[in-house]
Amino acid sequence: MAYPDELTFAPLGGVGEIGMNLSIYGLGKGQQRSWLAVDLGVSFGDEEHLPGIDLVMPDIGFLEREGKNLVGLVLTHAHEDHFGAILDLWPRLKCPIYATKFSAALFEAKLEAEREPPKIPVTVVPSGGRVDIGPFGVEFIPVAHSIPESHALAIHTEIGTVLHTGDWKIDPTPIIGPPTDERRLRELGDAGLLALVGDSTNAVRDGRSPSEAEVAKTITELVKSARGRVAVTTFASNVARIKAVADAAKAADREVVVVGRAMERVVQVARETGYLDGVQNFRGIDLYGHFPSDKVLALCTGSQGEPRAALARIAGNDHPQVTLNKGDTVIFSSRTIPGNEKAIGSIINGLVAQGVEVITDRTHLVHVSGHPRRDELRDIIAWTRPNLLIPVHGEALHLSEHARLARAAGVPKVLTCRNGDLIKLGPGDPGIIGELPAGRLFKDGTILEDSKSRAVVERRRMGFAGCAFVAIAMSEKGELADDPEVDLVGIPEKNSAGEELDDIVFDVVVSTVEGLPRARRRDSDALAESVRRAVRSALNEEWGKKPLCLVHVLEV
Ligand SMILES: [Zn+2]
Ligand SMILES: [Zn+2]
Repeated sequence: MAYPDELTFAPLGGVGEIGMNLSIYGLGKGQQRSWLAVDLGVSFGDEEHLPGIDLVMPDIGFLEREGKNLVGLVLTHAHEDHFGAILDLWPRLKCPIYATKFSAALFEAKLEAEREPPKIPVTVVPSGGRVDIGPFGVEFIPVAHSIPESHALAIHTEIGTVLHTGDWKIDPTPIIGPPTDERRLRELGDAGLLALVGDSTNAVRDGRSPSEAEVAKTITELVKSARGRVAVTTFASNVARIKAVADAAKAADREVVVVGRAMERVVQVARETGYLDGVQNFRGIDLYGHFPSDKVLALCTGSQGEPRAALARIAGNDHPQVTLNKGDTVIFSSRTIPGNEKAIGSIINGLVAQGVEVITDRTHLVHVSGHPRRDELRDIIAWTRPNLLIPVHGEALHLSEHARLARAAGVPKVLTCRNGDLIKLGPGDPGIIGELPAGRLFKDGTILEDSKSRAVVERRRMGFAGCAFVAIAMSEKGELADDPEVDLVGIPEKNSAGEELDDIVFDVVVSTVEGLPRARRRDSDALAESVRRAVRSALNEEWGKKPLCLVHVLEV
C-alpha cells in the first residue's frame, strides 16, 4: 500500500507581522499536493523604510509555479489585510475564489472603483455553509469581528479537520450579524479537531474584549450631550459601528452625513446586503451646511490621519462642504494603528487648537478591538480541544504569548512558525518538514516590484543623502575633451566653510581623471568607477554623508 497523503499548512504572509495574510493548506505528498489558499491580503508601506510604497503584498511565486494544483482561494472576511491583494495578484493565479455575500459585494464595489475593472469571478457561499474545493471540504463558521460576515473556516479532509479561525472575538451582542457560533465550534471539538490555526493579535491582553453594544451606548451618550456639530470617524468597514453612530444620531435628533468615498462605498454595500435595514437614510454631503449645528452629524473617513481622507481635510479647513468650529465635537471611534501616531496627533492638535473637543478611546469606550483577548483564546481552546495549535496573525511577541497560553491550557502540541515554513499537520506527529519560498512584493505606483528591487533602496538612500551627477567627455586619446558637468541634487550648496560643493566636486573629478594612467582613462567603466569613488569620498569629507553618484562617460 502506498503511504497515506499528508495534510500540510504553510503561512506565506501574516506570521511575525500583522498584515498581508496568506495561508495555504496542502493535501498530498511531495510534488503531488493540492493547495487551498486562505486569504490574500496587503499591509501598508511605511514612508520611512519604504518611501513611495503604499502597499506590500505576499510573494506568490510558489503558488504561481504550482498552477493547476491551486484548487481555490477562500476569504475569511473583507478586511484589507485579508483580501486587499486580490486585485493585483489574482491575474497571476486565476483560481476560483469563494466568499460570503458581503465580502463578495465589497470586493465587487472595489473592482468597480477601478479605472479598468478586471473581471475576477467570486463564488458566493452562504454563511454557515460548506463547499467542496478539490479534496477540501470548507465550512464557513460565523464569528464576531469588526466587519460583517467574518468566518472561521473548518477545513475538512480525509486526514482530519483544521480550524482556521480568521479574525474573531467573542461578542454576545455584536450589533450586526450573529455572535460567534459556539455550538458549532463545540461540535468540532466533540468530533475531534486535528489543529487550530488561530488569531494572536490580542494574545498579550488579559480578560475579554468589551462588546460593540457597550461602545454604542457610550457613543449615544456622547452624541446626546454634544452641543455643536459632531463628527465621528471610524474604520469605514465597521458596519456595526456605522449603525451605532446612526442610532446615536437618531436618538439625538441629528441627520447623518457620510463624508469620504471609502465610507460611502461600504454604506452602499451594507444597504444592498441588508446590514443597514431599518437604519434611517443618510443625507447628501451638500446638505451639511443647511442643517442647524445641533441637528447634524458627519460620519467621516480618516481615523488614521490619512492626509487625503475626510477628517484631515476638515481639520485643515480644506473641505469644500464640511467645516467645524469652536464648541464642536470630534469622536475618534477607532484605535491608532502603530506608525500613524504622528499623523493622528497632528490632526488632534489642529482640532484642539481650533477649540474643537476631541474624544478618543484613551478616555472613553468609543472603540473596541475585533480580536480575542486571553480569556477568549482560552474559551475557543476549551470548546474545540485541538490536538495541535499554531499561532498566526501576529508579531513575534503575540505568537509566543499565544503559544504559551495554549500550552498552559493543556493543548497537547503547540507549534510556532515563520512565513514560508511547511508544517505537516498529520497523520502522525506534526512538525516543520520544509520551507517554501516566501517574501514580499511592493506596489510601487502602478508597478508590482520584487522586494529586492533597487528602486526603493535607491529612493531611501537618495532621501537621506541626495545624488551627485557627473558627466565627462573623453577624447579618443584618453584626454578630457571638455569641462566635466556636475549636478548635485538634494545636497547642500556650500560646506560649513562657505565653499561651493559643486566647485569642490568639479576639482575632484578633474584631478581624478588626470591622475589616472592613460590605459585606465580609455576604459570608460573603470574611469567612471574611479570618479564615482572619489566624488563620494570627497563629499563625505566635506559633508559627513555619502550620496548616490552617477557618472556618465561620453567618448567624443
Ligand atoms: Zn486581520
Ligand atoms: Zn479583520
